[in-house]
Amino acid sequence: MDALMTPTLEISRTRFLQNLAAVQDRIAPAQLMLAMKDDAYGHGVEWAASAAVGAAQPVDSFGGYDVHTSLRIREQTGRATVFAWADSSDDEIEQALAVGIELGVGASDYLRRVIEMSGRLRITARIHLKIDTGLHRNGIRPEDWPRVIADAMAAQRAGLIEVVGVWSHLAEASDAEDDEAAREFRSAVDVLRAAGGTPRALHLTASAASWWRPELRGTVCRIGAFCYGIRSADGPEIPGITPIAALRARVIEERGDDVLIGVGALHGLPSTLAGAMIGTPGGVREIVRIDATSTLVRGWSGARVGEPTTVFGPGEQGESDATRLAERIGTVGEEIVTRLTAGVRRVIGD
Ligand SMILES: *Cc1c(COP(=O)(O)O)cnc(C)c1O
Repeated sequence: MDALMTPTLEISRTRFLQNLAAVQDRIAPAQLMLAMKDDAYGHGVEWAASAAVGAAQPVDSFGGYDVHTSLRIREQTGRATVFAWADSSDDEIEQALAVGIELGVGASDYLRRVIEMSGRLRITARIHLKIDTGLHRNGIRPEDWPRVIADAMAAQRAGLIEVVGVWSHLAEASDAEDDEAAREFRSAVDVLRAAGGTPRALHLTASAASWWRPELRGTVCRIGAFCYGIRSADGPEIPGITPIAALRARVIEERGDDVLIGVGALHGLPSTLAGAMIGTPGGVREIVRIDATSTLVRGWSGARVGEPTTVFGPGEQGESDATRLAERIGTVGEEIVTRLTAGVRRVIGD
């Protein structure tokens, strides 16, 4: 397909900065940790990290998930805090410690590996210990917590690590369960403090709980979706938060009453989106079928090859956002954007 016909994800830096400011205002005095996993939810780490550190109210804390993404963030952000919470290989731990990336630690054997590496490198590792508050994924079980804290404090006294944070992840299934998780979280922090710890970063909440449940915020909120303008599926619109990305594809062929547009399943568009409405120069039109590299759309009179359409996102044609498409097929907006492959050109504009 020639370059003009390549589908594009048009991203607005201005809207991204507006979302960051809206989130920062909402959660203050808690601090924003901008979550950037999956290449900044498909939007691209590099421009987003550099825009965030350059914001009027600069973002100075980033969540990279894995060490690879965290290193990319570090390149763009100089002295900002960068947090990597994936269980990492020894090579990755070494790379992270060498550039001061802070590590999330949710298991005692991982703690041991981090301590060994910091001893080997003679670099004090800054770590955030994860308490399992009920999700049973990764995290130190409450019954193991006192023993792990004792080990961690011994390593801290030896100068090998510094426990700078405590964190967990909420299920967000019900307020009652989240309240219970928050109680578990606070008692874990109490145990650490009683053992002599002085964590500065206490973080439990992501987008939705950070926004709607102020009493659950700690000193830091890890937020991705809302910063990229992705609201919760089946959740309300968020005042001050707008989608930052629009997926545009051009008409590549006329097919009788219908047209083919140049984006398809191989670009990451779920084929289950058939039936969804997209924006066209002729108004809103229905997706009939999604094929490998193209999508069949109900035509409009005078449709011409090369005309742009908007599959989702802001545009003059006033249609859907990624979350609305996601809701159609029972998923979340993040999924729609992060699935888009490298075959979709990212264009960062104002
Ligand atoms: C992705 C992620 C977040 C951010 O969640 P959003 O709902 O996108 O704000 C926070 N914490 C962890 C551990 C995550 O993996």
